[in-house]
Amino acid sequence: MEPPGGVPLTARGLRRSFDDGVAVLDGVDLDVGPGRTLALLGPSGCGKTTLLRVLAGLDVPDEGTVTCGDRVLTGPGTFVAPEERRVGMVFQDWALFPHLTVARNVGFGLERPDRRSSPRIDEALGMVGLPDLGDRMPDTLSGGQQQRVALARAIAPRPSVLLLDEPFSNLDASLRTQVRTDVHALLVELGVTTVFVTHDQDEAFVLGDEVAVMSAGRIVQSGPPEELYLRPVDRWVAGFVGEANLLAGHAHGDRATTALGPLPLDTPATGPVDVLARPESLVLESVGAPAAGAPDAGEGASGEVRLVEYVGRDTGYLVDVAGQVLRVRVPGAPRCARGDAVRVRHIGGPARSFPPTDR
Ligand code: ATP
Repeated sequence: MEPPGGVPLTARGLRRSFDDGVAVLDGVDLDVGPGRTLALLGPSGCGKTTLLRVLAGLDVPDEGTVTCGDRVLTGPGTFVAPEERRVGMVFQDWALFPHLTVARNVGFGLERPDRRSSPRIDEALGMVGLPDLGDRMPDTLSGGQQQRVALARAIAPRPSVLLLDEPFSNLDASLRTQVRTDVHALLVELGVTTVFVTHDQDEAFVLGDEVAVMSAGRIVQSGPPEELYLRPVDRWVAGFVGEANLLAGHAHGDRATTALGPLPLDTPATGPVDVLARPESLVLESVGAPAAGAPDAGEGASGEVRLVEYVGRDTGYLVDVAGQVLRVRVPGAPRCARGDAVRVRHIGGPARSFPPTDR
């Protein structure tokens, strides 16, 4: 299949309220570069699906514009119908037609003469790894296969933009990771501009070249995944995109005094702060043991292990340090047990800090 080639997708000032007057979209700007994938990440009800529907032309905003390349799709006095947008969409429930074969499902969005049989159907099925299943009925396929058929249907018309709304939410946990990787590989191969909605941080980080975090109808931060993880704009984003310890501290320029000793800050500050320490930027040492493998660790503090959570690739610990319970994550199997006295040290680079709340 010819890659459809990427076009930029842009939204400016999107606003949308429903009957109760609450702004579900409260001034949303988006920029998705050509062939890039933007993951829209946010809690339930923050407006992700509404935004996707506006981009698809399934809903009309009260204000704002949507532009694809140099084509205005939605704007003052302009509204391009969904079927004219060259936008492919995959919904949460995939919505395959149960009475149509796989091939006819995939051909559904094509011009009428091509719907029953077309090289585009075969190409699309080939791309999603189901080249021989065109004659099957949807209910004879596994969940993962049905999901791929829905994707094939979306890509068969060679859309300029692909919109995916929680496409993995109907899959078992065991299948999700594999299907996620398959879809990731497919998006890379297609090079099609994509917006992908999820409330799952892992999915957003894996699939998104950029991630836009939404809350209450607004995009609160947008950027590459590592920027969101390492430099969240506020404590809410910090906690939404990963596990976060916030250490009460006092900043003096580029360092802050905390319960774990003085820690370097990524941005100078003065006065009371809460310092972000991700669980993997902390290490544990049994009391009395030499500091192993972390020569640049901060001075640290004594604590007591409250809980041990082993998940195979790493072990999570909840450690009480002077009354604050910290999450620590260390690769491999447990090396400390509940009740052990330990020393907790910070090994990450300069840390993010936030103004304190009402402590
Ligand atoms: P989820 O992750 O649960 O799907 P979401 O972030 O996709 O949530 P939306 O589906 O966009 O959120 O809904 C945002 C808010 O807008 C919700 O409070 C919802 O009830 C409301 N809403 C969405 N569509 C309509 C509608 N057609 N009429 C009235 N309210 C609506």
